Amino acid sequence: MDGPGLAERLAAVKAQLPPGTALVAVSKKRTVAEIKALYNLGHRDLGENYPQELRDKQPLLPADIRWHFIGHLQRNKVKYVVPHAHLVHGVDSLELLEELDRRASALGRSLDVLLQVHIAREETKHGFLSEELQAFLATSASERFKALRFRGLMGMASNTTDRQQVLSEFQGLAELYHRIRSSGLPGLEQFNLLSMGMSGDLDLALAAGSNMVRVGTAIFGER
Ligand SMILES: *Cc1c(COP(=O)(O)O)cnc(C)c1O
Repeated sequence: MDGPGLAERLAAVKAQLPPGTALVAVSKKRTVAEIKALYNLGHRDLGENYPQELRDKQPLLPADIRWHFIGHLQRNKVKYVVPHAHLVHGVDSLELLEELDRRASALGRSLDVLLQVHIAREETKHGFLSEELQAFLATSASERFKALRFRGLMGMASNTTDRQQVLSEFQGLAELYHRIRSSGLPGLEQFNLLSMGMSGDLDLALAAGSNMVRVGTAIFGER
């Protein structure tokens, strides 16, 4: 095949990131060999969407990989994710927080989570509504979940060619993130991650202030 290889594509993505931006390489539907090749280039942060896929791949790959769970998580699949996850990005309900806390406590571990906010106009996307989330956090919610650490917010913009709309959705999420950070609420001392941006809208997410991007296609090629 012609075209740039994995190392070149990884370098090209990294070149777009301001210093301090975390890069999660999205490895859903990629083989263990593909992931190993990225690992051999020195990359350690990988993102998976499907609980069973994470469970199955994790034991076949080096133990120092930091696995990010970025997909929509159902309560009954939490058990596959909690033992392996470094950070869970898509936490979108109270019920899910409760189950993550319960499972993490049972394993005697603490678990970092990002709260997903519904910023897109599409019904199919998940997440808390902005007002709902602020009200929830104002009840010192983060202190109720002893095994969880609330680390920040995650969002997905609308799947549209209207770049202005995507930018304004990301800007709205960034505003909410800064509002929460400056709220001084207890339990949010380490609330410092804003996960937004994928291959198609990376530049817009960075322009809006993302400090963690989740990139699959631009690194691994088309799925
Ligand atoms: C698949 C996926 C990505 C990466 O998408 P690409 O377009 O391949 O970069 C990022 N975030 C989430 C939540 C995803 O499901």
